Amino acid sequence: MSERRTDHSARDVLRELFPESYRELFGEGGGAEGGPLTLGLYPVADGRLALVHGDQLAEFTPLDPKSNKALHCDLCHYTRSRSEATLFRVVVGARRTRYVTLCLGTEACQKRAGRRGLETLADRIFPLEPVHAD
Ligand SMILES: [Zn+2]
Repeated sequence: MSERRTDHSARDVLRELFPESYRELFGEGGGAEGGPLTLGLYPVADGRLALVHGDQLAEFTPLDPKSNKALHCDLCHYTRSRSEATLFRVVVGARRTRYVTLCLGTEACQKRAGRRGLETLADRIFPLEPVHAD
C-alpha cells in the first residue's frame, strides 16, 4: 500500500535544494496562486537542470556521452554539435530512467521550442513515480 504525497510541492523541494534558484524563479514570496501553471527548465547547480511543471519537479543530470556524433535536441529539435548540447539522465521512478538530449543554452532552446514543446517534454517525464527509501 503506497500513499502518494501530493501536499509536498516541487516548489518546496526546489526551495530546499536550490534556495538561490528558487528566489530567482519565484521571488521571496513565492506564492503565485491562481497564476498560470509554472512550466520551464531552470539551470540549478553543477550543470543540472530542473524541469518544473506546476507542483512537479524533475532533475536532469548531465552525462558525458562517449560518441562524437551530432546530438538531436529533444526539446527544440535542432541538430546540435557536442559543444552545444548534452545528454541528461532523468530518474522518473525507482527503476525507471529517461535520457533526454537538450541544448546547453536552455533559454534560447526553450524559446525555439515554445510552450508546446515544453509541454510535450513534460508529458514524457511526468508524473514521476514516487521513490520509496528502504
Ligand atoms: Zn534545444
